[in-house]
Amino acid sequence: MTDFRRRIPRTDTALADPRLVAAGARLGRGAVKSAVVAAQERARRGEIAPEDVIAAAVGALPAAGMRPVINATGVIVHTNLGRAPLSADAVSAVVEAAGYTDVELDLADGRRARRGRTAMAALAAAVPGAGGVHVVNNGAAALVLAATALAAGREIVVSRGEMVEIGDGFRLPDLLVSTGARLREVGTTNRTTAADYAGAIGPDTGFVLKVHPSNFVVQGFTSAVPVEDLSGLGVPVVADIGSGLLTPHPGLPDEPDAATALAAGATLVTASGDKLLGGPQAGLLLGDAATVERLRRHPLARALRVDKLTLAALEATLRDPAVPVLAALDEEPAALRARAEALAGKLRADGVDAVPVATEAVVGGGGAPGHTLPSWAVALPETYARRLRLGDPAVLGRVERGRLLLDLRCVPVERDPELHTACMS
Ligand SMILES: *Cc1c(COP(=O)(O)O)cnc(C)c1O
Repeated sequence: MTDFRRRIPRTDTALADPRLVAAGARLGRGAVKSAVVAAQERARRGEIAPEDVIAAAVGALPAAGMRPVINATGVIVHTNLGRAPLSADAVSAVVEAAGYTDVELDLADGRRARRGRTAMAALAAAVPGAGGVHVVNNGAAALVLAATALAAGREIVVSRGEMVEIGDGFRLPDLLVSTGARLREVGTTNRTTAADYAGAIGPDTGFVLKVHPSNFVVQGFTSAVPVEDLSGLGVPVVADIGSGLLTPHPGLPDEPDAATALAAGATLVTASGDKLLGGPQAGLLLGDAATVERLRRHPLARALRVDKLTLAALEATLRDPAVPVLAALDEEPAALRARAEALAGKLRADGVDAVPVATEAVVGGGGAPGHTLPSWAVALPETYARRLRLGDPAVLGRVERGRLLLDLRCVPVERDPELHTACMS
């Protein structure tokens, strides 16, 4: 054997390299082993140096798996970053539920039981005003189920000011019409009155829909009709509150919540699980017991059924609502300022052009449009944006006026050292 061949690392040695062990966890050992064998071949053919076999194997691995990201954008509910990060309890619950679990079985008598009954009990306990609760895949699915079960072949009465596009080109009116329901639009973009609704209601009405405009605000000469003024019209009222606040949040006075909507007379409330509730992607349905039961027993409900992992994460989120989203929302500006000053100071001492700056963070597409939260960031040269984005973990900030801002509002304090390391590498 020629000398350079002897210097080619053995497969076992290569597979023990930390970079390849980490890749194996993501991609599977088989894929990593193939990459190593291919790199050894290239070394044997003299195309690469024996010392470069591991680097070549790492470089040849396909991109796979979602990459973890530190959210330094200052946008708390960031749809492109997977909306709400789960709490530590929710993460443990997901891991626990990953194997066989009693999701649909009563261990006491060995018989089939209501799927996810402990999660449903936690949701019912969180909103005592709801006679019934059900969970589907996301907020859009909750609306589709309500429209199909209550208004297919009939009319949904909705204000022209609430015909919302939720993002990525998906529009609620199109979604509702896709169920076979007809939309009966009332009012105008800026003004809709109780009389507009009353005039549209008839024998064909399935329900009145009230949609919270969760990603825009209409200002000026406007009027909208609150749920309490719609609940006396003699037809069901479905309130799509969007954000998933179950009870009022003192810092977000304009954000609707499920308990208040039900108390105001809504028949059914629909909401997302992964916005301000801070849980997994899910669609919550809460309200009149008979209506919820009708939805739950509808054939379509089976197609919108949630996974055991979702149920586990949702239950943990409901049992301990101190979730990362609310921590980010409630973070004190003074604490953020101290962190920004400390991090910027440390970076400057290491020769990085970093300065603390006051910023404005937002809740994001998940709720409270127009509402800003005073925050603090570390401002860096714009060239850092790409480097940090491609790092491990990836760090995503936002570029403003030629500077990269790392807004600390959504960064848990214990991760500040990782930001420092990322800027230094
Ligand atoms: C976010 C939102 C939806 C869609 O919910 P998903 O969970 O994204 O499917 C529907 N309506 C409103 C008002 C929303 O804010």
